[in-house]
Amino acid sequence: MKKTLILVVFAIAIASFFYFDLGSQLTLASLKEQQVAFDAQYQAAPVLVIAIFFLIYVATTAASLPGALILTLAAGALFGVVTGTIIVSFASSIGATIAFLSSRYLFRDAVKSRFGDRLKAIDNGVDKDGPFYLLTLRLVPVFPFFLINLLMGLTAIKARTFYIVSQIGMFLGTLVYVNAGTQLANINEVSDIGSPGLLLSFAALGLTPWIGKWIVAGIKRRKVYARWTKPKKYDRNMVVIGAGAAGLVSSYIAATVKAKVTLVETSKMGGDCLNYGCVPSKALIKSAKVAQQMRDGDVYGLNKVTPKYSFKAVMQRVHDIIATIEPHDSVERYTDLGVDVVKGYATIIDPWTVEIKREDGEAQRLTTRSIVIATGSRPFVPDLPGLDEVGYVTSDTLWKEFARMDEIPKRMVVLGGGPIGCELSQAFARLGADVVQVERSDRLLEREDDEVAELALGAQQRSGVEVLTGHDAIRCERVDDEKRLILAADGKEKSIAFDALVVAVGRSARLTGFGLEELGIETDRTVVTDDYLATLYPNIFAAGDVAGPYQFTHVASHQAWFATVNALFGQFRKFKADYRVIPWTTFIDPEIARVGLNEQDAKARGIAYEVTTYQMHELDRAIADSATHGFVKVLTVPGKDKILGVTIVGDHAGELLAEYVLAMKYKLGLNKILGTIHTYPTMAEANKYAAGEWKRAHAPEGLLRWVERYHSWMRG
Ligand SMILES: Cc1cc2nc3c(=O)[nH]c(=O)nc-3n(C[C@H](O)[C@H](O)[C@H](O)COP(=O)(O)OP(=O)(O)OC[C@H]3O[C@@H](n4cnc5c(N)ncnc54)[C@H](O)[C@@H]3O)c2cc1C
Repeated sequence: MKKTLILVVFAIAIASFFYFDLGSQLTLASLKEQQVAFDAQYQAAPVLVIAIFFLIYVATTAASLPGALILTLAAGALFGVVTGTIIVSFASSIGATIAFLSSRYLFRDAVKSRFGDRLKAIDNGVDKDGPFYLLTLRLVPVFPFFLINLLMGLTAIKARTFYIVSQIGMFLGTLVYVNAGTQLANINEVSDIGSPGLLLSFAALGLTPWIGKWIVAGIKRRKVYARWTKPKKYDRNMVVIGAGAAGLVSSYIAATVKAKVTLVETSKMGGDCLNYGCVPSKALIKSAKVAQQMRDGDVYGLNKVTPKYSFKAVMQRVHDIIATIEPHDSVERYTDLGVDVVKGYATIIDPWTVEIKREDGEAQRLTTRSIVIATGSRPFVPDLPGLDEVGYVTSDTLWKEFARMDEIPKRMVVLGGGPIGCELSQAFARLGADVVQVERSDRLLEREDDEVAELALGAQQRSGVEVLTGHDAIRCERVDDEKRLILAADGKEKSIAFDALVVAVGRSARLTGFGLEELGIETDRTVVTDDYLATLYPNIFAAGDVAGPYQFTHVASHQAWFATVNALFGQFRKFKADYRVIPWTTFIDPEIARVGLNEQDAKARGIAYEVTTYQMHELDRAIADSATHGFVKVLTVPGKDKILGVTIVGDHAGELLAEYVLAMKYKLGLNKILGTIHTYPTMAEANKYAAGEWKRAHAPEGLLRWVERYHSWMRG
């Protein structure tokens, strides 16, 4: 209502301006004609004239009406250079700020919900360089003044910054035009003032903030490196620390483009994913799924059986699978690819030197033009009283510890309701353990939508997991020979006895003990990098879990490309790490796969969306497979088929998602997915049917009514 009122006021002001032909007053000829009369009024009542002039100027610019240039000349003609410049400088900045604030109040929300992510990218740019952009635009008076006010109002720049930069930026232009106004008699056309030479000088002036910025960046760079002595020559083009997904891909790319690269790994080649993460967990999940299918045999018309198995054999299979994949990440393979692989612990000594404490006991120092930090993350272990006394496992230790056991621990507690906690809880429960999964917040999988978390809860419970959400682990106790975890919920304590405690409450980046502190490289949960993954030192980059913000193998390899290319070729062209389309999957049964926005993200970010859902229980293949839990849920731009995000819950959801990842990456809408043939009967058809649901909801009803009439007419 308020907004409508303001819009009406603006509309009336603009309409009156044109209706009463006020523009004809704001011409050079009219100004010259009335100069004598104006002078007389000014002599008679200078303060009043200044006040009225000031208000007219503010109102004209605030309402984005034409005429500011003529008013500026008038200020020179009427008040002289000094007074005129002061009046115009303040009036124009105040008027501009009112226009800016009005535009923000009236249109920012609408623009935000319409352009969502794209506006966010602009806001990020404005946050960093906004004053520079504005100063440039203000210094070059060829950019329309009113347009800058209105457009800047749509960005996130602070009003105070806008005002100050505007006042500073417009000062020179104001001075030139006010000064020209003092020579009014000699000006025949407004274009006489803005000669090409003058405009060119303004353009050059507009570049000064950027030149200044470039100089400041250069000085900063020099300052960062000032306390170190740069080597004259380098042993390597790049040293990569850590041979997980990020480090392997970095060194692979560097070797492919013929750079001399050393990859240093202190523990196992392949890092977490191969040895403690994705690979062993997925191998375990497969055994657990088969066990569940045996138990559910009757669903498929078979006898249901309680699986009999050796836990040792299941764990051995996990290790066999790691061993089968190991050669892909081995020292031999990477050496063959042209990477110099060194087993040992790396420490960054200075921005160009890495010292390696090699496995053979020798120390080796390498000078290098660039460094990629890919040291990954480790399980976060909370500071729970009594935890060390009762003992626990994490994803780092459980594969080895459990492999020693003949039987699966009977009573297990899994701390953590995130993806890793859910995957492990379900797998161990399906293998026959009594699993209690504990989560502090009020639901599992906090990053996913409520209905997804609900489905996950159902899946865990069907697998036999007792899920305790809203429970805070407060301490561990050993009573006689029994180990217990004490939980707090609703002001009461609850004690759970266990044989094994799995801690899966998140992972923290490996940030200490290899030189970051000594070099002053900033960290804040992860290594702080710029958009190009460079740290404080422009030749030191970070990628993977240590760089964040995601903790996935595929994101680690994705970042590795950016870090490596920027490190090796950044002097020619740098690439911003691109996080626009990041998919991930939680491998519980049914799988939960996601790309882009879900509803809770869209709401939090104020992005307008429409939801289309297709239920798996309607899909022929899901029915044939008795795999009807789940759905495909697509968020689109209202009224358009542009995909904002997709969540798929169901069998093979991780595989189904790939089609939507491709669609989002290459900006293909739901119409394109609908127009693509999908094999019958497959789970992938769910993607097409979701697109079909969207199409049905957007059918052109009016047109169809006419088509119906046409058919009826054709029938005679
Ligand atoms: C149980 C579990 C399941 C997971 N499942 C999935 C999944 O299904 N899909 C998925 O995408 N992600 C999954 N992840 C996450 C995935 O494992 C990580 O995101 C990925 O391993 C990160 O790779 P990285 O290269 O950043 O680090 P890492 O793989 O941790 O590698 C870092 C390496 O650096 C070495 N290092 C550290 N410091 C030094 C030093 N100073 N000198 C030399 N070497 C050093 C370490 O020894 C380590 O090998 C899972 C993780 C866990 C724990």
